[in-house]
Amino acid sequence: MKLSYTAYPLQLKHTFTVAGFSRSETPDVLLSVTHEGITGYGEASMPPYLGESIQSVLAFLDKVDLSPFHDPFAMSDIHAYLDTLSPGDWAAKAAVDIALHDLQGKTAGMPLWKLWGLSPLSLRREGLPTTFTIGIDTPENVRAKTLEVAGQYHRLKVKVGVPGDKELIASIREVTDLPLTVDANQGWKSKEEALDEICWLRDQGVIMVEQPLPKGSLDALAWLTERSPLPVIADESCQHLSDLKRLRGCVSGINIKLMKCGGLWEARQMAIAARAFGMQVMLGCMTETVCAVSAIAHLASFAQWADLDGHLLIDNHPFAGGMEVVEGNIRLPSAPGIGIEPVAGFRIG
Ligand code: MG
Repeated sequence: MKLSYTAYPLQLKHTFTVAGFSRSETPDVLLSVTHEGITGYGEASMPPYLGESIQSVLAFLDKVDLSPFHDPFAMSDIHAYLDTLSPGDWAAKAAVDIALHDLQGKTAGMPLWKLWGLSPLSLRREGLPTTFTIGIDTPENVRAKTLEVAGQYHRLKVKVGVPGDKELIASIREVTDLPLTVDANQGWKSKEEALDEICWLRDQGVIMVEQPLPKGSLDALAWLTERSPLPVIADESCQHLSDLKRLRGCVSGINIKLMKCGGLWEARQMAIAARAFGMQVMLGCMTETVCAVSAIAHLASFAQWADLDGHLLIDNHPFAGGMEVVEGNIRLPSAPGIGIEPVAGFRIG
């Protein structure tokens, strides 16, 4: 199997602000794996807080030699090999993993969800809604943005734990009653403050809270989850399958992201383990292309929550096809693999 890759910084439509930092561009690396004339595509996106960069991803990929492997389905062997090259580099490993899964589906001639025996949306008739994030902005802009998207989504997401968050929610509530989810990104400093905020948010029509407290504060998260009127989902606290055992009983559920866990191989195991532990599953993404967003969307059957809007934030799309949002719900592609192809004229490597 042959690997190709290229750095591809993503241009953001709007400057994006979360607790701690702002940005207008995000680092990204696109990758392809070709085997017997079929090509699968993958991607590494690198939010600053995970510590990877275009340089680190390219340095890792320079070490990867897939030529000894002759079967794109040999995931346990290939992941074991990748782990011998580095104990980390999860986004870089995710890029290889996504491309291999895409290649598997294309080789089998069916979408990944079907290859896994999952249903296209879920067995639930109502489908899986995804949130769309409303960023901190002036009240006029927040109202305008909310009105623009309110008819397209069943749930909106708001970043909280930053100055101006209450004004933001008030501005949204002037124009829509849609349920909201919130992400505090570890922004609240104590469990008591977090509980006060969550109770206030519940009264504003918020239905779920993500990462209210610092990621290592498991005792405080357990205290809060026991008292919280809303489900508490761990994001920064939950990176890998191995985190689930200690998070069990501390939070209501986990936010699975491919760039944290190293790809679909582990993400699917995390979803299954979370279900076995009675925990809710959320599917999340970084700011990334429709490649990685579509990849994780194939796990929709396992999920109660989805926040898959990362690809809608960028301007320079290298891929077409893939997951769509139809009447607020995720619609999985019927094309083979993860369901995407490069746009006309775009080549990797
Ligand atoms: Mg989050």
